[in-house]
Amino acid sequence: MRFDIISIFPGFFEGFLQHGVLRRAISASMVEVRVHDLRSFTHDRHRTVDDRPFGGGEGMVLKPEPIAAAVESLGVAPKAERNLQRESVVLLSAQGASFTQATARQLTLLERIVLICGRYEGVDERVSELIADCELSIGDYVLSGGELGAAVIVDAVSRLIPGVLGNEASSEYESFGNADTGPTSNGTPRSTYGSGGLLDYPHYTRPQEFGGLSVPEVLAGGDHEKIRRWRRERALEKTLHNRPDLLEKAVLSPADRAFIKSIQPPSC
Ligand code: SAH
Repeated sequence: MRFDIISIFPGFFEGFLQHGVLRRAISASMVEVRVHDLRSFTHDRHRTVDDRPFGGGEGMVLKPEPIAAAVESLGVAPKAERNLQRESVVLLSAQGASFTQATARQLTLLERIVLICGRYEGVDERVSELIADCELSIGDYVLSGGELGAAVIVDAVSRLIPGVLGNEASSEYESFGNADTGPTSNGTPRSTYGSGGLLDYPHYTRPQEFGGLSVPEVLAGGDHEKIRRWRRERALEKTLHNRPDLLEKAVLSPADRAFIKSIQPPSC
């Protein structure tokens, strides 16, 4: 998977690419990330990337020409053919569609993703109309630039690429994961269910006792079925408490539904 990031602050990404999972994925050539300075695609003495907004108002707007030149220099397919070529040009925008784990999973099917980072008041709308395939937002808040959004997308997508995480299963069995209740590929029983769109269950490590709280007994018992059920119920509890909206779309078994009913306060 190759990512090309277009930004007026290319230095922003230096530290981010040099740590943990992403650093390993890059050094193993499973992921390639190239960062391009938008100002290199300007032709005036001041390397101008922005201008005042038509219609008046506060702030500056990123001009379309340097962005068009930057994308063109990358040799991506014309917009109409990008899907076929498994390429996509994404504009980071607070007005974009929500970037979720499902979006991240979809993006792993591509071979190449170009990420355009806005700044100031935003980007001339013709970039969205003529150049980008989609606008993505990383959350319902306004950031000062698209760089953090690009970093979020590179991270979330890269860790889903087969082979990038040491343990292939570990991206299925976490928050927002797919549903899967089958045995592992080598036939051993699993200690977890696929989250099926729920939040992750709580994790514990040593020491066995900390701050007066012990690790739940069931986790030390070695009964995989009991552990799975315990984890599932804790995930259901946490989701009901922190993100009840996720329960509406989650893949739930009759046992899950009965459990939720048992812990929900009776509605009057
Ligand atoms: N005027 C815009 C905000 C511009 S913020 C508005 O009200 O929607 C400047 C840039 O930061 C944007 O062009 C975009 O690239 C980036 N940005 C801000 N919030 C973002 C978010 N939630 N997700 C992704 N990118 C965001």
